[in-house]
Amino acid sequence: MSAEVLDGKAIAADLRRRVAGVVVDRVGAGRRPPGLATVLVGDDPASHVYVGSKRKACAEAGISSIHHELPGDVSESDLVALVAKLDADPEVDGILVQMPLPDHIDQDAVLAAISAGKDVDGLTPVNAGHLAQGRIGVREALDLESDEPHVGLVPCTPAGVIEILDRSGVELAGADAVVVGRSILVGRPMASLLTNASATVTVCHSRTRDLASACRRADVLVAAVGRPEMVKGDWIKPGATVIDVGMNRTDAGLVGDVEFTTASEAASRITPVPGGVGPMTIAMLLANTVRASR
Ligand code: NAP
Repeated sequence: MSAEVLDGKAIAADLRRRVAGVVVDRVGAGRRPPGLATVLVGDDPASHVYVGSKRKACAEAGISSIHHELPGDVSESDLVALVAKLDADPEVDGILVQMPLPDHIDQDAVLAAISAGKDVDGLTPVNAGHLAQGRIGVREALDLESDEPHVGLVPCTPAGVIEILDRSGVELAGADAVVVGRSILVGRPMASLLTNASATVTVCHSRTRDLASACRRADVLVAAVGRPEMVKGDWIKPGATVIDVGMNRTDAGLVGDVEFTTASEAASRITPVPGGVGPMTIAMLLANTVRASR
């Protein structure tokens, strides 16, 4: 078998067009465009690139962006004060504080200053709780065009994975899904979204005893580990759908967590790296900003 390669770039481009369409309609109806505030601390080059791409994508979608850069030695209280000010600003619908933060700053203290309604990264306990308690299914996570208030905001990367699965016609109800990784950014919300879509979900991590056997049970396998090509082709159940969230910079370039060539021989569908999940994350951030503005 040679797997169908799921084109995250094309799905993301389509989602970005839909976001831009919603913004045009809103502005045409006399409302202000949605506004996203980005906060960048320190001079990590990768974080600068990520935030730059996010702001460019906002501009292309007609979303206004308000950007703040703070030095790496900023105090936690000054950062929290800025975030609280943005949280109180009626022109700001969504707040994104680029992670990771310097070691002397407590991430939870910063997140605590963001209201759930403006938490476009879906990282606050309130949004994580709505997801974990089953209030956010595929429909709620992906709904874009309606003007109803949202139930909660979902972290962008796992929401992007659900959009890829949904658009690719992958049946989740009753499927055996395995998520490798349990971070609050990817693995945990991914497992909740799959559970809410009625998949039977196994979450694996660094203490899992026999990872290969666990993966072999998966009809849908999501790898979010951060270890280049750790998931081997012979761990893939024939016909499975394989979603590779990993983004590992190596001497050979950007590679995923899955050994793509061998995995494609067993899988029926697979996401590439680059061009799979990566482009969905920014597209979902735009979509979450529109949701937050409702
Ligand atoms: P993370 O916070 O470092 O979490 C990694 C997870 O993998 C942890 O739960 C860890 O288990 C588990 N793990 C580590 N080694 C393992 C092993 N040998 N066997 C089984 N599990 C193992 O990383 P993350 O933020 O979730 O990101 C994961 C990957 O996705 C990274 O490559 C990252 O760059 C990528 N990513 C991509 C996007 C995108 O837009 N495409 C967005 C976010 C992240 P423990 O909990 O036991 O430590």
